Amino acid sequence: MGNGRSASFWFDVWTPLGQLIMHLGPLGPRALRIRKDVVVADATRGSNWDLPHPRLQQEVALHSYLTTISLPLSTECDDMFEWIAGDSSLCTFRSATTWEVLRPREETKDWFDVIWLKGSVPKLAFTMWVANYDRLPTRTRLASWGVPISADCPICSRDLETRDHIFLSCDYSFEVWREVLIRCNPPTSRFTEWSELLSWIRAATSKELRLLRKLATHTVIFHLWKHRNNLIHNQTSLSVTTVFHSIDREMKNIISANRYRKSLCSLMALWLR
Ligand SMILES: [Zn+2]
Repeated sequence: MGNGRSASFWFDVWTPLGQLIMHLGPLGPRALRIRKDVVVADATRGSNWDLPHPRLQQEVALHSYLTTISLPLSTECDDMFEWIAGDSSLCTFRSATTWEVLRPREETKDWFDVIWLKGSVPKLAFTMWVANYDRLPTRTRLASWGVPISADCPICSRDLETRDHIFLSCDYSFEVWREVLIRCNPPTSRFTEWSELLSWIRAATSKELRLLRKLATHTVIFHLWKHRNNLIHNQTSLSVTTVFHSIDREMKNIISANRYRKSLCSLMALWLR
């Protein structure tokens, strides 16, 4: 507290009691006969506090603290404001620290490493995130909500359209994956379940290969889903070669755009082999 000419009496935290409007409640301004818009200096008169005799316990607590402040307030220095975030007090406001204090934090999810990564494209990572939760509106899910449609795979019609079918076990997807896997060291056996896909990503022998597998998986999932949507909504059926061509171009773009990142600069050689 300096001269008390800028600190709000009711809303700034200038006593250990916190904001006085919270400490004394909405009836506080009437009880203390101090308007809500005044500054601390307005509550003093010469070397005394201009306050009525305390009645409530909270008012007594305030009076007792005020006796520790010597009056009149110093006119030489201005009030100083400090931003306090959590346990750390900062003289200036920092949005990053404040965000860390405010945001709800949960345990790190076990899928975090395969979804959110440096270099990934947000639209691809987002689709991967939703797919990982098995929340994409596949026909099986739509049918389970009561939508009157066939739950069969729109591409092969040989099985129900579940997440694992459309992205992994459908023959069409398998053909797309085959082109991609050549560039990412294929698994020993064809994966048909989501958990096998994640295990394969994590089993890569080097950091670079793991990153390539993650980026390739994001891209494949996005383009397979896009192809599936185009087939259903626009009746556009594309060949495996065309879909792979889009994936290939997307991968090259991602890697080129990140060529200055240390972790991504060697990926082009891996992808093009
Ligand atoms: Zn299918």
